Amino acid sequence: MQYLKPASFEEAVAMAGEAHGDVRFLAGGTDLLVRMRMGAVPDVLIDLKHIPGVYDIERTENGGWRIGVAVPGAELTEHAGLRADWPGVVEAVGLIGSTQVQGRATPVGNLANASPAADSVPALIAAGAEVEVLGPGGRRRVAVGDIPAGPGRTRLAQGEVISALYLPPRAAHGGDAYQRFIPRTEMDIAVVGCAVSLSRDGNVITEARVALGAMAPTALMVEEAASALVGTTLGEEALEALSEAASAAGRPIDDKRGTAKFRRHVAGVLARRVALVAYERAGDAK
Ligand SMILES: Cc1cc2nc3c(=O)[nH]c(=O)nc-3n(C[C@H](O)[C@H](O)[C@H](O)COP(=O)(O)OP(=O)(O)OC[C@H]3O[C@@H](n4cnc5c(N)ncnc54)[C@H](O)[C@@H]3O)c2cc1C
Repeated sequence: MQYLKPASFEEAVAMAGEAHGDVRFLAGGTDLLVRMRMGAVPDVLIDLKHIPGVYDIERTENGGWRIGVAVPGAELTEHAGLRADWPGVVEAVGLIGSTQVQGRATPVGNLANASPAADSVPALIAAGAEVEVLGPGGRRRVAVGDIPAGPGRTRLAQGEVISALYLPPRAAHGGDAYQRFIPRTEMDIAVVGCAVSLSRDGNVITEARVALGAMAPTALMVEEAASALVGTTLGEEALEALSEAASAAGRPIDDKRGTAKFRRHVAGVLARRVALVAYERAGDAK
């Protein structure tokens, strides 16, 4: 295996272009190194952690956030500005693994690993997050939800690298939340994960985005669930419609963590709980 240490993303793309065989970019390595120990060793490993700026968390000109691709969960969960603006994204990232894993694991690695159950992905989708992608064809901005293609597969073209993660500005009176169900109390893979991001005008919900994880081959936005919230004050009728839409979404599978029927039930329960938290947070937000 060849280990490469580019000094810029442009160099990383050039290295990937010249490389042969299985080429992987290395961020925190909490997925990649586990795979390598199991025998899936790439031909070329391109370590992104030495590129200037990859550990930075910065405010963007429009009041959002730019997060470097090597920023680990532990840094994100301790960042006061991010916690204030996007508490749901931060709590989703904070659920990844253990304290040790948090010291390394990045949300971009979580996204590019393309597990349908990845915790940060529904929260990023609900938040309207984007990534910057650099490749032989140039630079482009892509919605987070457009990156995963299926379990372990992304829509990144050969040689393309994610060079930054962007969160939009938090809307006035906006709030988000994420919860998952796992069979154990920690260190397990989500049976279902649910994220809600919404804005309020007084008590009325004016905008909403609902995303589910582990209900389909990729995390998905559920438009019907969001529609059930907009224009309401989150009364019982809205919660019931939300719950039904979340339960009906996707094409969940039966596996050792739960049946498809159980996943549908859990999606409905979680959607209710998460919407209530997001609604409270939006009420508290300035
Ligand atoms: C003990 C343990 C517990 C875990 N618990 C959870 C959990 O609760 N929830 C959860 O969702 N996940 C969990 N994971 C999985 C893992 O920690 C996360 O998916 C993590 O966010 C991966 O980030 P990373 O930076 O370590 O990625 P890496 O391992 O460095 O990379 C993962 C994949 O993304 C690609 N990649 C990384 N960065 C880029 C980039 N900038 N551009 C293009 N491709 C890139 C890599 O090539 C690789 O294919 C756990 C893992 C372990 C070992």
